Amino acid sequence: MMILVMNAGSSSLKYQVYNMLNETVLAQGRVERIGMDASILTHEPTGGTEVNQVSEILDHNTAVRKVIDVLTHPEHGVIPSMDAIQAVGHRVVHGGESFKASTLVTEEVKKEIRRLFDLAPLHNPPAMMGITAVEINLPNIPQVVVFDTAFHQSMPQETFLYPIPMVLYRRHKIRRYGFHGTSHDYVSKQAAKTLGRPLESLKMVTCHIGNGASCAAILNGKTYDTSMGLTPLEGLMMGTRSGDIDPAIVPFTMNKEELSLSEVNSMLNKHSGLQAISGISSDMREIVEAMEGGDKQAKLAFDMYTYRLRKYIGAYAAGMNGLDAVVFTAGVGENSVAVRRAVCEQLSFLGIELDVERNQIRSKEPRFITKDGSRVQVLVVPTNEELLIARDTYQLVKA
Ligand code: AMP
Repeated sequence: MMILVMNAGSSSLKYQVYNMLNETVLAQGRVERIGMDASILTHEPTGGTEVNQVSEILDHNTAVRKVIDVLTHPEHGVIPSMDAIQAVGHRVVHGGESFKASTLVTEEVKKEIRRLFDLAPLHNPPAMMGITAVEINLPNIPQVVVFDTAFHQSMPQETFLYPIPMVLYRRHKIRRYGFHGTSHDYVSKQAAKTLGRPLESLKMVTCHIGNGASCAAILNGKTYDTSMGLTPLEGLMMGTRSGDIDPAIVPFTMNKEELSLSEVNSMLNKHSGLQAISGISSDMREIVEAMEGGDKQAKLAFDMYTYRLRKYIGAYAAGMNGLDAVVFTAGVGENSVAVRRAVCEQLSFLGIELDVERNQIRSKEPRFITKDGSRVQVLVVPTNEELLIARDTYQLVKA
């Protein structure tokens, strides 16, 4: 049983082919610069040689055709024909309140995803283009959609509602949705396995910190609260996103700096966070390097970033009335020894006892970074959103 996983962005299309018998990746790759000149397809067959092709790829439809060509190519390909693929699973960012789980693509499902374009104007339209492109090129293959928001649909009203007029929720569905759901879902399950305890008995905070960053309070295996909101701007300080700020800063800045709504939106999404405070980079590696070299702004950016993360972990421990484990994942969470140390050492009051040596170890496997007797355990769990998409797709098609 082979599953093709797709993640379509506005000018990119990433893919992976999974053999679900042993959950191995046969090939992965990406098409970049779709709709621009000199589009690039990078194809990596597992154990084989990387292929790079530069051509004009004007739309997602052509991109999908190129992916099919390379997957079935006599030399670089990994399958004899597309008949070997049983289903395609797509990552879709926003499922609104309509989708509480992954689902097979039907006409109704497509209509609903289109209706949600308003809530994710940058993300849902390209995902839809990916679905349509597969429909055109592979009309007989079932498709599944896996939503970033679905896992968080378990939140109760007291955590997902904003204290603003209820009419805004009723009319426009303005509420907290949360994102990175597949990652929080995947790592919380992996963490429970590593802890050797049933997920349903645990109070956990999962920290998905990469370019985008979010925390989730996982209570009995379900999201009780999460830091991203109506959009992926709320919550933690990120590479270029501000995270939480006083909402009054928006009209105040518009007035003082004579900025338009879209300019303020761009400021908060693209010119804030680590980038804005350090003046150096949005990349945590460069921040830590500059900080170690004595750069004061880099240190300030690092301190703000880790303080805000600690604040969320503390708040969620209070929200759940307890804490058994903290999980770090994604680019920063899996790799930054300095960030994990700064967060854990200042949470000793919660019962976190960091093991400095374990924190240094690099591995692709889930692992503990706390001492054996630590009341609250901290784990690093490499995320794998594609595998979860492949699993959901496989389960739905099998059924
Ligand atoms: P992601 O969005 O999960 O791919 O994460 C990307 C981010 O992870 C990059 O922008 C870096 O800031 C961060 N990152 C990757 N490797 C390291 C590392 N070794 N140390 C610190 N941060 C890292």
